[in-house]
Amino acid sequence: MTHMLRCPVCGEVFNDRGELTCPAGHPGLLRAVYSEKQLILRDEPGLFRYAGWLPVQQIPETMSGPVTFRSDGFAAEAGLSNLWIGFSGYAPERNAHIPTCSFKELEAWPTLERLKETGCGTLVIASAGNTGRAFAEAAQGMDIPIILVVPTRSLYRIWTTRPAENVTLIAVDGDYSDAIAIADRICELPGFTPEGGARNVARRDGMGTVFLDAAVTTGRIPDHYVQAVGSGTGAIAAWEAALRLIGDGRYGGALPRLHLAQNLPFIPLVSAWQAQRREIIPAIDMPHAEEAIRDVHADVLTNRRPPYAVAGGLFDALSDCGGRMYGITNHDADRAGALFEETEGIDLDPAAAVACAALLVALERGEILEDDCTLLNITGGGYRAVPEKYPVLPVEIIQPQEMPSCIAELHHV
Ligand SMILES: *Cc1c(COP(=O)(O)O)cnc(C)c1O
Ligand SMILES: [Zn+2]
Repeated sequence: MTHMLRCPVCGEVFNDRGELTCPAGHPGLLRAVYSEKQLILRDEPGLFRYAGWLPVQQIPETMSGPVTFRSDGFAAEAGLSNLWIGFSGYAPERNAHIPTCSFKELEAWPTLERLKETGCGTLVIASAGNTGRAFAEAAQGMDIPIILVVPTRSLYRIWTTRPAENVTLIAVDGDYSDAIAIADRICELPGFTPEGGARNVARRDGMGTVFLDAAVTTGRIPDHYVQAVGSGTGAIAAWEAALRLIGDGRYGGALPRLHLAQNLPFIPLVSAWQAQRREIIPAIDMPHAEEAIRDVHADVLTNRRPPYAVAGGLFDALSDCGGRMYGITNHDADRAGALFEETEGIDLDPAAAVACAALLVALERGEILEDDCTLLNITGGGYRAVPEKYPVLPVEIIQPQEMPSCIAELHHV
């Protein structure tokens, strides 16, 4: 094995058999420990260039991967001299080839590959958008069956660029939480397995490739890392990638400062962190959650149960890196996103626009200085160019009478 897993609670190190939690039952995010201490790049076109620090033995074929480029236009408007864009999306002129247009595809490929290698059954994913689309695309690319559970009103976001024969798509009346509830019940059936979200090392280390790509491209760990967060998994991944790069020794010895943003009025992570509290208290940090979620443009950022308090989670990452958090209005996000599109020529996912606005606020407040080396994680974008190159095929939902009977029964209760 090229890697082992380590529990942050008991410190035990053990072989990876696809676990999402410590076999002794400890709460805490397991971490992959790689036998390669210095990062060796593979000759691959996509994210598997970083396979040395991904929990997989084999490499599926994909062009999907992060790219890093120096910002000219947006940096000049913001007043920054050393701004780098980590881009996950579709912009072939920038060598960015993620057809589903978000960094969720960086999670999907290693997660499915790890699942295949550890033989853990059929993956079940609940999603309201980007995650579902990413897993559908990767499942098709790797020829692995998956089950996707999606709220009916989010179905329009589930499309692929090749016919999705491997995807069983189940539509659920209700919101994302209802989809999660159905997915959880399917996972109780034999042969099905949850993807595990932040608990899955393949998801985190897949997202961490954005940070690795930036460090490899610029030759160093940046001073600042800016991202819009829903669960915070991407930010935890950046922190872990930075720790590994410090261990490598060639990229610097200091952690980046994390600057993370959510979209007002739904900002539980901002609220809890600003109170310096490890616990999210729903009544304080997300009052009127349903209404607040409805008012948010970047709805991929509206996670009600983020891995914040858990050992190795977002609170620990923010504490270790000296974190700052920002609540961003729809208006400010839209403006910053438009400025980015005008200056860099890429249309953005609404969540990435929130990150652009957060960068501008951080500058205004003097949290980031003009010459600081800054990595802005543009987590999604380039949607407009996809249909010029690829067919955009809606994934068809499975009718209750076509479902395996064990699932159909669950679906109706
Ligand atoms: C999911 C998502 C995010 C938030 O990522 P987390 O890891 O959940 O914090 C940000 N931007 C885009 C485009 C996303 O799809
Ligand atoms: Zn343990």
